[in-house]
Amino acid sequence: MPNVLKGIPASPGIVVGPVHLLKWQVPEVPATSIEPHEVEHEVERLRIAFARSIERLRSIRERALRTAGEAEAAIFEVQISIIEDAELRGRVEAAIGQQFSAERAFDVVMLEWREHFARSQHAMLRERVSDLTDVHIRVLTILLDLPDHDPVDLPKGSNAILVTQDLTPSLTLQLDRETIGAIATDSGTRASHVAILARSLGIPAVVGLLDGTERLRTGEIVILDGTTGTVTTRPTAAELADAKARQLLEKSEGEQLARLAGKEAISRDGTHITLFANVDLPDEAAVAVASGAEGVGLMRTEFLVVGRATMPNEDEQYEAYAGVIKAFGTRPVIIRTFDVGGDKLPIGGWPHEANPFLGWRAIRMCLDQPEIFKTQLRALLRAATLGDVRINLPLIVTVDEVRQAKALIAEASAELTARGVAHRTDVPIGVMIETPAAAVLADSLAGEVSFFSIGTNDLVQYTLAVDRGNASLASRFTPLHPAVLRLIRMTCEVADARGVAVSVCGEMASEPIMAFALIGLGVRQLSVSAIALARVKLIVRGMRTSVAAEAVQAAMKSATAAEAEQILRSSLVAEVDSELLHA
Ligand code: PEP
Ligand code: MG
Repeated sequence: MPNVLKGIPASPGIVVGPVHLLKWQVPEVPATSIEPHEVEHEVERLRIAFARSIERLRSIRERALRTAGEAEAAIFEVQISIIEDAELRGRVEAAIGQQFSAERAFDVVMLEWREHFARSQHAMLRERVSDLTDVHIRVLTILLDLPDHDPVDLPKGSNAILVTQDLTPSLTLQLDRETIGAIATDSGTRASHVAILARSLGIPAVVGLLDGTERLRTGEIVILDGTTGTVTTRPTAAELADAKARQLLEKSEGEQLARLAGKEAISRDGTHITLFANVDLPDEAAVAVASGAEGVGLMRTEFLVVGRATMPNEDEQYEAYAGVIKAFGTRPVIIRTFDVGGDKLPIGGWPHEANPFLGWRAIRMCLDQPEIFKTQLRALLRAATLGDVRINLPLIVTVDEVRQAKALIAEASAELTARGVAHRTDVPIGVMIETPAAAVLADSLAGEVSFFSIGTNDLVQYTLAVDRGNASLASRFTPLHPAVLRLIRMTCEVADARGVAVSVCGEMASEPIMAFALIGLGVRQLSVSAIALARVKLIVRGMRTSVAAEAVQAAMKSATAAEAEQILRSSLVAEVDSELLHA
């Protein structure tokens, strides 16, 4: 069997370390029956497994109390109370009495309960399904004597490579950087939020391995290369030496690129391209400033909510926004209102949806929950007194949504005035162009807003009907598809004609060949992850906008994404001659 697993490069960096397999899924239970004289023994096994699960949950709850907060720790109390529930115990013991092994009895009862709760009319019961699933996994893991996969107990400095099927953004946020050196997942693509977060946290990652959790074993030493998207198992001495050499090369390339931080992003034919940074977590602001960013093109505020059980209050939000705004002084900071939903969810309390990316997400949730939205808006209007703040609305598909949001901004302002709190009343409002509807309707939207921010991650997903997080579709997620290029071009033309600023903040802007295409399409502001900024600047400084415009003109006329990419690649390579060009 080949020893190199190929996935999708999601966050750069090379790490050599032990695998820690996190298989958080209900294990298979053998259909074992028992003899009548074994019933008592099985009941005792069940009692011990329950006691051990409770003990384990208590220690996790203690840890969550220290690291996350009371509301987050509360979910573990809920899980403890499920295990302590007398009815559950009674049902499982009754099944054991019918000569089921303890694990089989527990499995059967939990399957029934989960099904029953999932179908409940009451939202509160439906919300408990994920807790039941966690309990189901935890108790069965003990009964079946399987290794405990919780990553919480890894010793500091483990440099472990966390291998899992699907890592949620909330779990990613809770990862301890001192124990986890890198992430490898079966699912996901470059545009999935786990990949985006890994990049902002600076954790090397490979996603979309498809069967990594089947092929990798806890404890084995592997080389994870987040730049090439590979995981090398059973590495030979030569492969380890090669990894070391590439680590050094990446370090020296990083140093060369870092020297560009103070230089201007100006093309060979004299066009200045504004390079902003994307900020996903308030703590990232300092790194973003150091990267030489001219401002923040996208602050993703939903990460203040993801992984928490409660919404942050107005003051807490104010502090988070103020930190980023102050770090950037007088430079613009575009803050996007909550894009909660899709794959970015708080703990519990969220409706289960068949198609979350087509569901109750972003502006839809905010307009339906005006109190949550206005709390955020008040915090934003207050923080706006500290610098050049602009408010950006996500997932807009109709002009009505913009008008309703503006009405709520006016209400938030009036509430602050009534409280006598200082705030700004003239904050520029913009919209994300991340649906085909918004791109096609750009001329109508232009009448309502002062800037467009093109979100290519979603624009590609919705235009091509390709789930941005589905690893099996990764090769079909093609931002250079002529249909996508044409929608971006249309948006730029409207923006130009109507005097509306336009930037691109999707991951497309971070990739050299695509940044080249975007500049060719007329985009003059790119917002990229801090780690990608210097490389994009290198492209800008080596290219002419006129050449990019010609190349993308031809690319737009090509029939396929592959042809478009070919045209752009050969033009870029001829234009910018640098070893540092690789994405
Ligand atoms: C996008 O869709 O391109 C975007 C920037 O928003 P997000 O990735 O947070 O959905
Ligand atoms: Mg988006």
